[in-house]
Amino acid sequence: MNPPAPPDAAAAAPPPAACGRCGYDVRGLSSFTCPECGSDLREVGIVRPRSRRGLDVGWKLLILAVGWPVGALALLLIVSPFVTTSGPGGN
Ligand SMILES: [Zn+2]
Repeated sequence: MNPPAPPDAAAAAPPPAACGRCGYDVRGLSSFTCPECGSDLREVGIVRPRSRRGLDVGWKLLILAVGWPVGALALLLIVSPFVTTSGPGGN
């Protein structure tokens, strides 16, 4: 009921993160400059070593999970006219 309000959204420390260039743990930094290699974290990016691979796989699974039904539906829509016209027309 009492969320800790960050003093400054821009200066707020990101979640467990590492420098996108050298992999240095940049948690708790008050600036966007990596103390290890001096790179601008806004340029090299911030990676999350713990969940980076999991997140990547998660996204692929999500795309796959969404892509399958969409692909199947598209196939069904393409095939359905042929199915209905070539159905059992025993009249
Ligand atoms: Zn670095």
